[in-house]
Amino acid sequence: MSTATKKGSQHYIDLEDAHGAHNYHPLPVVLERGDGVYVWDVEGKRYYDFLSAYSAVNQGHCHPSIVNAMSQQAQTLTLTSRAFHNDKLGVYEKYMTEYFGFDKVLPMNTGAEAVETAIKIARKWAYEKKGVAEHEAKIIVAENNFHGRTTTIISFSNDEVARKNFGPYTPGFIKIPYDDTAALEKALQEDNVAGFLVEPIQGEAGVYTPDDDYMRASQELCEKYNALFIADEIQTGIARTGALLAVCGKCDCAGHCEKQQATYAQPDVLILGKALSGGAYPVSAVLANNEIMNVIKPGQHGSTFGGNPVAAVVGMAALDVVKDEKLAQNARELGNYFRARINEYIETTDTVTLVRGRGLLNAIVINDTEEGDTAWNICLKLRDNGLLAKPTHGNIIRFAPPLVMTKEQLDACIDIIIKTLKSFE
Ligand SMILES: *Cc1c(COP(=O)(O)O)cnc(C)c1O
Repeated sequence: MSTATKKGSQHYIDLEDAHGAHNYHPLPVVLERGDGVYVWDVEGKRYYDFLSAYSAVNQGHCHPSIVNAMSQQAQTLTLTSRAFHNDKLGVYEKYMTEYFGFDKVLPMNTGAEAVETAIKIARKWAYEKKGVAEHEAKIIVAENNFHGRTTTIISFSNDEVARKNFGPYTPGFIKIPYDDTAALEKALQEDNVAGFLVEPIQGEAGVYTPDDDYMRASQELCEKYNALFIADEIQTGIARTGALLAVCGKCDCAGHCEKQQATYAQPDVLILGKALSGGAYPVSAVLANNEIMNVIKPGQHGSTFGGNPVAAVVGMAALDVVKDEKLAQNARELGNYFRARINEYIETTDTVTLVRGRGLLNAIVINDTEEGDTAWNICLKLRDNGLLAKPTHGNIIRFAPPLVMTKEQLDACIDIIIKTLKSFE
């Protein structure tokens, strides 16, 4: 495009405003290119991406091996539907189940679809294996959860913005406080419980990081009461928190769990999405062992695009990158460093009250009310200073850069963050 016809950011913002549903409130920046930890806007300005598309781009923007796998497969065969077999799906399923240590995988596309899939599997398991009375199955969930946007999922959200005027709601959920094993045990003692659906760290809620033992204790309680322990690792999984999965707690496994670790919790049902494709394509999955997954029979669940050959090769390439580039280890080391440097700054200021997180999934809490606009204004200033982040809830800013970041790049980013925060003192 010649410079004469090239449009500025406002043009594209206006187009979205005029023609798109207003279901998001984006930071005003219009991106046109990405490479590794960087993105560029239509004016050519470069930014560090500190959101990574909500942790979908763990492998960095446009990772060449993921893009190559995708473009080759896109020129060969894109979609058969599951009416026929294709030569990539089985290879991918073998790869996935070996990678994560489960008997079976059920491939879907988006995160919300994978959560829906897990709910259906858990209910069916409850009726057919646990002997729960028909229509009575209940799933325990945590307060302030985020599991997606479908009608059933928002039914058990307590975010009024996400719920209001979308009823009637799907019944069959019990809500308990997060990081509260006593509340979990009490709920598990109710009749007809199919399982406990939980995020190992509550990302959307503001990176609420539970006790190191929470996952392990939850798993043991679920086992004791014969309920499924269902981990939604869509945001926390795939190296983001310094381990392959966040159900590893704080184990020091270099991203590949040795299951003897004291804080490791093996989920009965594992839900993945986001970084399963490195952000290249919508790829999600549910993993479980045979005694659970085999409750699903032909015709009972599916998706036209789920398990398509492009998704299959993209998923394998994305997971290869995680291992080859030791992203879990990098996330763990850089995460410890990040929190240490931000904590040093917090000692000197009243602007930020705390930093929390694990690996490279972190958040800072700004000293403002939840209704205040300081966090939003800080994000605008961060943008001006060359770094993109977004408030999660009110006064909380999440920091989640691609995991391919180097120490030098992270130092430059922390300098930008501290400089920006200082300008709000
Ligand atoms: C993003 C997210 C989802 C939903 O994924 P979509 O692909 O947006 O449908 C579900 N659970 C968690 C924990 C997430 O972070």
